[in-house]
Amino acid sequence: MKYYSTNKKVEGVSLEDAVVKGLAEDKGLFMPNSIKALPQTFFDTIETLSFQEIAYTVGDAFFGEDVEAEALKKIVYETLNFDTPIVPVADNIYSLELYHGPTLAFKDVGGRFMSRLLGYFIQKQAKTKVNVLVATSGDTGSAVANGFLGVEGIHVYVLYPKGLVSPIQECQFTTLGQNITALEVDGTFDDCQALVKSAFMDAELNAHMKLTSANSINVARFLPQSFYYFYAYAQLKKLNKNKEVVMCVPSGNFGNITAGLFAKRMGLPIKRFIAANNRNDIFLQYLQTGQYNPRPSISTIANAMDVGDPSNFARVLDLYENSHEAIKAEISGVSYDDEQIAVALKTCFEETDYLLDPHGACGYQALKDGLRLNETGVFLETAHPAKFLETVERIIGQKVDIPQKLQEFMKGEKQSLELSKDFAGFKKYLLSL
Ligand SMILES: *Cc1c(COP(=O)(O)O)cnc(C)c1O
Repeated sequence: MKYYSTNKKVEGVSLEDAVVKGLAEDKGLFMPNSIKALPQTFFDTIETLSFQEIAYTVGDAFFGEDVEAEALKKIVYETLNFDTPIVPVADNIYSLELYHGPTLAFKDVGGRFMSRLLGYFIQKQAKTKVNVLVATSGDTGSAVANGFLGVEGIHVYVLYPKGLVSPIQECQFTTLGQNITALEVDGTFDDCQALVKSAFMDAELNAHMKLTSANSINVARFLPQSFYYFYAYAQLKKLNKNKEVVMCVPSGNFGNITAGLFAKRMGLPIKRFIAANNRNDIFLQYLQTGQYNPRPSISTIANAMDVGDPSNFARVLDLYENSHEAIKAEISGVSYDDEQIAVALKTCFEETDYLLDPHGACGYQALKDGLRLNETGVFLETAHPAKFLETVERIIGQKVDIPQKLQEFMKGEKQSLELSKDFAGFKKYLLSL
């Protein structure tokens, strides 16, 4: 399969190149030349299949031409070895719990899958070593670092803003060692992102070392996120609740929801999507006005969605051939401020005993507000509430249990390298490697 750039200024590339490069040379995002529809027989029996069986079928449609069947099977079965169950929360509303992986957030799915797929391609190019640069406000760093831990031929550099990630998040990528280096930047998340972008564009650095990204711009990270939409549907079908399915996705860079849009293109019967946002409502503004006006992000309690210029918006536009009408017909948007998010989280907990995290709370509330008669809603619960411990405890006024997996990270010793936010220092460091 060839992958083209959304900017359409360069030739299509192989899957291998798309994964190793991350971003196209014209700064566009890679898209597969075709999106294969899955056969009706797959949907007829989907409720009898496991998450891994579904993931393999969908993964084969994406990657089967470029990765040997046995290798792909191994990647799917070894990386997606945790459940993504749907849990009933309120009338016709289900939570798709995506936090049962090693770092307790949905990014484990794409992070783990990508690490193994990149590893597979690197093994074929004997001796090349690839360096993954990733800027994080918390969750991406932990999922990517844990996904790539110990993968041969790959070194990961996690750039994070000093003092601006929670202690629980920090320990998930600073205590690992081996092929993971944590770089503590004296600046904001935007500064970290700018450092990474400058590095990708620096000719001298790129001649010195192979660099790639593990953010959701990478097809190997974002495409696997479609697997759990199919599995959620399978679980709804088992309950005979699969007629008018609405998927509600707490969104930041829009990688997660774009994976859902791909699933629909492959034939998954999803009626419509809701993109739930915090106050960073650039997409909602676009839906309302047809104008896309990125702006600097505002900080909120759902901080993994504090994005002012969602990178996957380019993919959404491309999928719908730039038609505002077509996009509006399938996706609606909502935006909640911190107060509304807190009320949603607290009310849901008091009324149903189900504890949400601040991101999932946006998704839950969007379904509460927007679900229509006869529809069944599923919101993606993107992280475990304990990952946002201080916020969640403050809102519900009581302690939250910390899962064993998180406690283990907290026992490790922090190792990080401090950097200033100017590119010269970062470049000098990378050149010295
Ligand atoms: C990354 C993240 C999001 C946003 O996902 P996108 O794919 O960037 O839209 C939402 N919630 C949590 C907890 C996250 O970590």
